[in-house]
Amino acid sequence: EKEINLENLDKKHFLHPTSSIKQQQEDGPAIIFEEGKGIYLKDINGKEYIEGMSSLWNVAVGYGRKELAKAAKKQMKKLSFSSAFSTFSHESAILLAEKIARLAPGNLNTVFFTSGGSEANESAFKLVRHYWLLKGEPERKKIISRKKAYHGVAAGTTSATGIVEFHQMTNSLAPDFLHVDSDSVAALKKEIEKEGPKTIAAFIAEPVIGAGGMFIPDSDYLKGVRKVCDEYGILFIADEVITGFGRTGKMFAVEHWDVKPDLLVFAKGVTSGYFPLGGVIISEEIHDLLKEKSQGTLFHGFTYSGHPVGCSIALKNLEIIEREHLVANSSLMGSELLNGLKKMENQFHCIGEIRVIGLLAGFELYENAQTKTRFSEKVAPKIVAECAKLGLICRSVTYDDSDTIVLAPPLIITKEEIEKVINILKNAIEIVIEDKK
Ligand code: PLP
Repeated sequence: EKEINLENLDKKHFLHPTSSIKQQQEDGPAIIFEEGKGIYLKDINGKEYIEGMSSLWNVAVGYGRKELAKAAKKQMKKLSFSSAFSTFSHESAILLAEKIARLAPGNLNTVFFTSGGSEANESAFKLVRHYWLLKGEPERKKIISRKKAYHGVAAGTTSATGIVEFHQMTNSLAPDFLHVDSDSVAALKKEIEKEGPKTIAAFIAEPVIGAGGMFIPDSDYLKGVRKVCDEYGILFIADEVITGFGRTGKMFAVEHWDVKPDLLVFAKGVTSGYFPLGGVIISEEIHDLLKEKSQGTLFHGFTYSGHPVGCSIALKNLEIIEREHLVANSSLMGSELLNGLKKMENQFHCIGEIRVIGLLAGFELYENAQTKTRFSEKVAPKIVAECAKLGLICRSVTYDDSDTIVLAPPLIITKEEIEKVINILKNAIEIVIEDKK
């Protein structure tokens, strides 16, 4: 029997998402994962890793949950697929919509399902534009987002994304997307005034910027933008694809600042990655307008909007999050992580600007953190590579001036496991930078 060489097949046939194609062609895949349990992954050579990023910020309840596999199997056997198009419906989508409406803040009450975050944000953009059409203000079509924001990779969401590298990938961005400075209410107001308030459909923001480098807003930022949106009658979309379902120590991150969005976008943690599922929750006002003014079909829906298997898994996953008090654990273990990182800051010259909210964390690397002198060459990617060798998966962000390490471990992580994470980070920094105070 011919032996299968996964590395070679990978190089030849597999175009990886968000990857360095050159590196992949030269080196092949760095790690081929095979199985997971709790916060741990194993690769094909049996080497174990702590998944300090919950894969792509999504595996909230950890790997290898038999309950979720059972929920999937049960649903697949009973009703593997059924569409929710038009007047069709099915139990798991109905129950999940009700459950999410119950968990969501404010008057967010009605859910549109998708297969992931990009589709969910695209749906939000289309729904807000549809809302303005129905309201008789068709000129309101522009969407304002933030520099450094990440909202996905479909046409509209690539354009809404504020990380310029994603724009440079294509020669055709969607029209009517504008970007403002990340943490300035005044900048948003200025942009609205410049463009004309009556041309703006919505403002979209991640409550905490994730992929762009883990930035927590100033304490009055989100309240400020909510106020500006209200002043000009602009809809506010919260992109909680990363932050939703406990990641920041609250069920939804907007709760930290007591802000009520008109639409809230979710994905990732809703199924802990056991099935691709996302969606957008809309306010009663928006739903009321749709009910009142829509003349016919809502011409928007995906084949897999409300996939019964995904919905069943999501229901079980949310049950686990509640039963195991994982939102509270996220907050508690977030404090442990913060303490650990602060201790590291005392031991090394290179660590500055530690940013932690629940189990979402980032810190900056400097040649000298006190004087904010950066390394001549970014070190975060080297530390991340060293961490992987030592058995910890984490992420680097190097856009613009940043040289950041990001962590987002599963919400089930324990104090002892946080200590392991911190120890590996310390070892990796010592090896890469040979820095000790
Ligand atoms: N929005 C945010 C804040 C995200 O972090 C992501 C993915 O990382 C997305 C949207 C896009 O989601 P997806 O990759 O499921 O399309």
